[in-house]
Amino acid sequence: MKNSTVVVAATVGVLAVAAVGYAVYFDSKRQTDPEFKRKLKRDRKRAEKLAKAEAKRLTEKSTQDIEEFLATATEEDYPTSMEEREQFCMAQLSAGEELFVKGPENYSLAAICFYRALKVYPAPAELVMVFQKTIPPEVFTIVMGMLSKDVQSKEEKYYTVFPPKEMNVKVEEKPEGMDVNGQRVMRRGLVATKGFTKGEVIFTEAPVISSLEPSLEGKNFCHYCLKEMISKDLMIPCNSCSVVVFCSDECRTKAGQEFHEILCTKNLLATSTGASATPSPAQALREYTKDSRNVVPGLLAKFLAKMVHDESLNSGAEYNSFDHLERLVYVEKTLGPDEEKEIELLKLALGANIPGIDQFITEERYLVMKARLLYNIYGISSAISPSLNVKPMPETHRSVRDRPITGAGLYRTTSYLMHSCEPNTKIVYSGRDHTVSLIATETIKAGDELQIGYIKNGKQSTEQRRLELFTKYRLQCSCALCEMTD
Ligand SMILES: [Zn+2]
Ligand SMILES: [Zn+2]
Ligand SMILES: [Zn+2]
Repeated sequence: MKNSTVVVAATVGVLAVAAVGYAVYFDSKRQTDPEFKRKLKRDRKRAEKLAKAEAKRLTEKSTQDIEEFLATATEEDYPTSMEEREQFCMAQLSAGEELFVKGPENYSLAAICFYRALKVYPAPAELVMVFQKTIPPEVFTIVMGMLSKDVQSKEEKYYTVFPPKEMNVKVEEKPEGMDVNGQRVMRRGLVATKGFTKGEVIFTEAPVISSLEPSLEGKNFCHYCLKEMISKDLMIPCNSCSVVVFCSDECRTKAGQEFHEILCTKNLLATSTGASATPSPAQALREYTKDSRNVVPGLLAKFLAKMVHDESLNSGAEYNSFDHLERLVYVEKTLGPDEEKEIELLKLALGANIPGIDQFITEERYLVMKARLLYNIYGISSAISPSLNVKPMPETHRSVRDRPITGAGLYRTTSYLMHSCEPNTKIVYSGRDHTVSLIATETIKAGDELQIGYIKNGKQSTEQRRLELFTKYRLQCSCALCEMTD
């Protein structure tokens, strides 16, 4: 036994010495024999050529595989229920793994599996990071290429599916005012797709999200649709808190599902019966909005909660609330003490119920979201009572009303209306809730651009109007009225 081990070790030793000897021989031969050198060079060139051809073939195969896959892939290929999605994801991940270990020939097919796993994984960005560390770089590159194609086609498709046809408008690039250098500014605005007579309703739209003027919260105004309730008997309280009321069971249910489950201050009630009544994070946010009279932080809290709700619905809708918000114009904002406070409050109020929201609400993202809201929200006047005593909203919002503003809302399509001091449309809240109707105030032909007044145009001079438009919207209006009185 011992002997044979020695024999094996000795043999290995001999072989090793022989190999080293051969390498030395080979090397000296290479350095001295010119014919041998040329042959080596030829061999290397041939090998390089072969490798190049092989790489080209693999790339072509991969491109073809991916194109074939993308051409036939639809959203219907993916399961909708949570359990099915999880199973599907696991199956795709292991299929991808089995494929890539078989070698480059199967890289594109492996990439398709990983891409399909990403489509159903709840936190795709995290999975991408895992892929980066665990799958071959060639496969990873193909997956990333597929993702960027996805983003691109989603980007291109957006304005072909939005706004919905039945709204009678489409989005087109139009000039709006001048920039500081006197250059025309181009912006996406709304154009009518059919004609309207004066007084006709062009479209009606419910908001992505709306919020009451903070001082009206808990009074006789619906927390969901902002409707005023004339009798206290009509008020339906929240099941868990005594802070908000609703005008109907439907509004209560919708609010609960979309945002109030997350933002309800029920925790406060639970603790206030005890010795300490530390406000819950949701209550702290509510108090801040009441004190500051700022409606935007509350709107944003609801917006983010609703975004999570949209995602969990798996409704098959291609674009979620965030996709809509992301495309809206804004005037850049800088971080001030208000925003620092708001970010902190929002993280706390949403953090307990939305894991990961902490990382999502970065300073930069918060500032852009807030700026987008400030540019695009409309002041809503849903009140019936003429004597309602509400102070004007301090934050920027579009409104030409003399009636009290009862809240604010963000609308997908209405946001695209551009400003004119002599607009051809106006918005009304005919249902006395947060649903807007856009009304033609003059005859409109198909193809006409639709404008709205962002600010009141009463007895102000052109100078005053310009100053207000510039301060709020960085807009140097060049409408007919402004040009005429120049
Ligand atoms: Zn309601
Ligand atoms: Zn509640
Ligand atoms: Zn003007």
